[in-house]
Amino acid sequence: MPGTLRVQGYRQREAGARSRYSHRDLYGGVDDQARRFSAAYWHCRVYFPGLAVAVALCVSGIAQRGTTAMTVQLAACYEGTEPFPDAGGPPRTVAGAVRVAVTLAIVIVPFAGLGVAVWLAWGHGLRLADVLLATAFYLVTGLGVTIGFHRLLTHRSFTAAPALRVVLAIAGSMSFEGEVIGWVAIHRRHHAFADRPGDPHSPYRYGTSLPGQLRGLAHAHVGWLLRDDPTPAARYAPDMAADPAMRAVSAAFPALCAVPLGPPFGMGWAIGGWHGALTALLWAGLVRVTLLQHVTWSVNSLCHVIGARPFTTRRYDRATNLWPLALLSLGESWHNMHHSDPACARHGTDPRQVDISATVIRIFERLGWATGVHWPVPARLDCHRRDQGRPQAAPVLQDSEAPIPLAPCLTVNVVHYTVNSVARN
Ligand SMILES: [Zn+2]
Ligand SMILES: [Zn+2]
Repeated sequence: MPGTLRVQGYRQREAGARSRYSHRDLYGGVDDQARRFSAAYWHCRVYFPGLAVAVALCVSGIAQRGTTAMTVQLAACYEGTEPFPDAGGPPRTVAGAVRVAVTLAIVIVPFAGLGVAVWLAWGHGLRLADVLLATAFYLVTGLGVTIGFHRLLTHRSFTAAPALRVVLAIAGSMSFEGEVIGWVAIHRRHHAFADRPGDPHSPYRYGTSLPGQLRGLAHAHVGWLLRDDPTPAARYAPDMAADPAMRAVSAAFPALCAVPLGPPFGMGWAIGGWHGALTALLWAGLVRVTLLQHVTWSVNSLCHVIGARPFTTRRYDRATNLWPLALLSLGESWHNMHHSDPACARHGTDPRQVDISATVIRIFERLGWATGVHWPVPARLDCHRRDQGRPQAAPVLQDSEAPIPLAPCLTVNVVHYTVNSVARN
């Protein structure tokens, strides 16, 4: 508790002051009245700022708890079809506008690079070196997000050796998807309020009518990035904020975005001079970033609207499995399974479900770099499976079944879960 620490620190300073100064130095009086007056003065000097800090902490704590309590209340009142009550968003601030401008630059610059790359390649084709470089950097940064940011740091699907943990955090930071602590906090918040008020990027934000659904898809894909809706790391990722290594990686985010653009430029220069350097920078840099960004965002948007829902999830959580994205998303598009059992290290659990991230985690495990991996357990999978035809163990985590209306083209039975713990998700 930061407030507790600050009060404790204040008490230590007070004790230090008492030990450094004599009673006379502190109270300075010669008679009882003067002593009492001086004592009162000292206490005012020492305690009043402390009291003010304590009051400020209480007020901010109450305000934060009030905001959180309001979000939880809004989520509890949600009926499943209407726009979220907070769809209008919080009032804009200068800091929020700056955040939005930076995010806009991060989104638009790689996309502009894609346009330039297509223009340069038009009529000239693509060189094999560009494709190989782009693929290599896509895999490294993509696995940094899927294995590092997501399965390791957000959901603790396994324990990584300290060096591997930092390397994965650095690789994920090179994907232009935000600094690591903020990413983890936002994603934990997404799971805590999946498709209910409080979810930062639900495609159901504007309701389940067709216009609302289309607007919601745009919001879930990229629109949410442009809203001034910060997620407090102190609440959703205190473990990350307390980790010095993660704080260092987080602080180095701007440099980590720029650094991976250098090697493609240098390699391209070595292969084909200026033209080679430019095309390598575009394809292995900006185009790679653009593709990975939009694949990740598609998991937020498409993988909550289109696809199959073979596994039960929490109430109103409409995460889907979307097989066409499985390869590009490195296994993340088996999103229904992931929302059903968030701590599981493998998302593609059925035969022929490609999950490259899980394969790489298995390699890490064989090398001894990853331990305590939460691999899927057949009995647990059957327990979460919606298909009544399959053998099922005794149902756990579910208390009722009820149909909820979705977009006009979609209907599904959603099992209501009683588990609401953020830690579990
Ligand atoms: Zn999701
Ligand atoms: Zn997740």
